Amino acid sequence: RVRQRPSRLEHPGRTADGRPVALLANVGDPAGARAAAAAGAEGIGLFRTEFGFLGRQSPPSVDEQVAAYSQVLEAFPGGRVVIRTLDAGADKPLPFVTPQGEPNPALGVRGLRTSWSYPQVLEDQLTAIARAAASATAQVWVMAPMVATADEADAFVARCRALGLDDAGIMIEVPSAALRAGQLLAQAQFASVGTNDLTQYAMAADRELAELAQLSTPWQPAVLDLVAAACRGGAAAGRPVGVCGEAAADPALAPVLVGLGASSLSMTARALPDVGAVLGAVTAHRCRELATLALAQRTADQARSAVRAALPELE
Ligand code: PEP
Ligand code: MG
Repeated sequence: RVRQRPSRLEHPGRTADGRPVALLANVGDPAGARAAAAAGAEGIGLFRTEFGFLGRQSPPSVDEQVAAYSQVLEAFPGGRVVIRTLDAGADKPLPFVTPQGEPNPALGVRGLRTSWSYPQVLEDQLTAIARAAASATAQVWVMAPMVATADEADAFVARCRALGLDDAGIMIEVPSAALRAGQLLAQAQFASVGTNDLTQYAMAADRELAELAQLSTPWQPAVLDLVAAACRGGAAAGRPVGVCGEAAADPALAPVLVGLGASSLSMTARALPDVGAVLGAVTAHRCRELATLALAQRTADQARSAVRAALPELE
């Protein structure tokens, strides 16, 4: 907990010495977008579009999608809204795009991979996003989930550009993407690190299994190494790299992520005030020191304890 706990994020996110760090919200539907705006989010860093597809036997029409996306964009006039394309598969199977009976669904056809067999579903979604963006004032960025290779990144960006969506990027949630981020960002305009899946795949620990909780934490030094690699790749390619996994909502981890190079943090809206307060209390230089401290530890517990001890701003 941060000592002076504001109930709402009042200012754009920045460190104590004025380095801007966009503080954005993760949302899943128009109501969530309106709640995030009320909570003071500067924009949306992750709009999970699955809600429009779940519980159906076929994808929503382009018109239905335009209506839903437009409502989300209306919540942030002039703000940034990062729309993630469909992330079906694994824990979110959808009968019209994901194969049944995969032995390892988390390692199967999920996220962007569903577009290999069903390109029209992605094409329709991008068409709907482009139409919604054309009549909104929000800055619409679009990104693909579960990208593993530079070819996938380039192909996604090409499809987006063909439809007029120039701000196309990728999620980094597969270790291969973190390690080769510079190459994956040759065409993509930005990356957003999904620490939930990045942790799952780095630690080979199912994110849903409570028994594996001690492995499944973004404080694992190996996960922090991958975040650092992703940020280095982004810096080399001259592209911004943000974080949109749950790690960004941890007030002790947020300054570490900024110190590793994250230029935006996207989280559940209720975490915004605490994260905004701790960031506003530390300089960019201290963020880098905290990142170095965390990376130097042997275990997740040691990393968390060392950073918390070095952050008296947290109670
Ligand atoms: C992630 O994997 O960190 C992420 C943000 O995506 P999701 O939680 O929707 O898989
Ligand atoms: Mg994910």
